[in-house]
Amino acid sequence: MLDEKAAGTVTSGAAPTRVLPPYPEADLMHVIDLLPPEERARYLEIREFLQTRIRAASIEYWNREEFPFGLLADMAKFGLGGLQTDGSTKLFKGLMYTEVARADVSLSALVGIHNELIVGMIDELGSPEQKRRWLPGLEAFTQLGAFALTEPDHGSDIAGGLSTTARRDGGEWVINGAKRWIGAGTIADFALVWARDESDGHVKGFIVETDRPGYSATKISNKIGLRIMQNADIVLDEVRIPLENLLPGATEFSRANELLRDSRAWVGWQAAGIQLAAFDIARSYALERKQFGKELARFQLVQQQLADILGNANASLSMMVELARIQQAGKLEMVQAAMCKATTTRLARSSVAMGRSLLGGNGITTDYEMAKLFGDAEILYTYEGSYEINSMIVARAVTGKSAFV
Ligand SMILES: Cc1cc2nc3c(=O)[nH]c(=O)nc-3n(C[C@H](O)[C@H](O)[C@H](O)COP(=O)(O)OP(=O)(O)OC[C@H]3O[C@@H](n4cnc5c(N)ncnc54)[C@H](O)[C@@H]3O)c2cc1C
Repeated sequence: MLDEKAAGTVTSGAAPTRVLPPYPEADLMHVIDLLPPEERARYLEIREFLQTRIRAASIEYWNREEFPFGLLADMAKFGLGGLQTDGSTKLFKGLMYTEVARADVSLSALVGIHNELIVGMIDELGSPEQKRRWLPGLEAFTQLGAFALTEPDHGSDIAGGLSTTARRDGGEWVINGAKRWIGAGTIADFALVWARDESDGHVKGFIVETDRPGYSATKISNKIGLRIMQNADIVLDEVRIPLENLLPGATEFSRANELLRDSRAWVGWQAAGIQLAAFDIARSYALERKQFGKELARFQLVQQQLADILGNANASLSMMVELARIQQAGKLEMVQAAMCKATTTRLARSSVAMGRSLLGGNGITTDYEMAKLFGDAEILYTYEGSYEINSMIVARAVTGKSAFV
């Protein structure tokens, strides 16, 4: 059952605390030592909050496909709504994404998309008025945005194929089209909608408030992962917005590329986090569960799985630390983001499969957490460019040959 032991925690008084000595931290490469002292202290404080307040609480929301509105205020208190604009180092921000994913992958998707694609886009590409109107509420998590790019008929080929349109009509833009898979689409205050301007053919970014007539969002149910995230099918039927809702910095799709590259990298941090979680759960279980009269942790094949999960997790984390180094230096390109995203999510898929197997039958029910990770890993593998698409971005860069069409 999901009790404190299965969650990698022991109880001391009322509040559970994490198991520490005699077992080493999963961060065997001492990555957190790379943080400056203030960020290290903040990291440890937030990690504790995520492990004690978010991790166990997320399971029932995940089972019920419900959004935990009640947890948002606490997450805001720890600054998770404003990571993009609070001056943190790239390494700190990345490690935060990892730690949120270690507690719950759906909420790490919310925090990542919110910071990288909503706050980031408005901060980088928005007008002073758009920033004034939206950033304070977003940073405090009292308002949410949805990033609406993918369409029912265009996923991997969205850049060229996008078919949602924007037509200028006097003092307004009129948006028509459909979007699919849009995170927070049913609960957000606005959607950042990418649409093709009928007059010049360019794909542009528009802020579409979700209470505008003609905007409708339907929750996508029965997902096998990321079940807390409220993904939606969105229909835009003659939605009228004022001219000033166009992001002035997003009058061509290429302007969003830098932010899309960073958000691709963000998934690598999630992949590291889900593997640390898989290790935490697998180790606790292997130390607790007995078969043939001894703990699973004493069997060689189980030890192999634990070592493999931990190796994968640390390889992923270390790769992302190197990514943060070049990102901080302003040298991150799409090829590195794609390589890290593809590699870490491939490893994550393998790690959660080993973890699920290590828990035997109990790996099949979310009561023991691992099954939740097993489903969530599939999303990491697919969104922000599928594994195949990211692999082809890497191979195109190193061969000069495109295999896309
Ligand atoms: C849970 C979830 C949350 C999401 N959140 C958002 C969101 O908030 N906002 C948003 O805009 N989008 C979101 N997405 C969309 C996501 O980015 C797309 O699902 C993804 O880009 C893949 O597109 P697709 O699903 O249409 O698959 P397709 O493009 O139809 O691809 C299907 C398969 O074909 C492969 N394939 C396609 N083209 C090629 C090719 N040329 N060569 C080789 N293989 C190819 C793909 O790799 C994949 O395996 C989300 C998706 C999911 C599942």
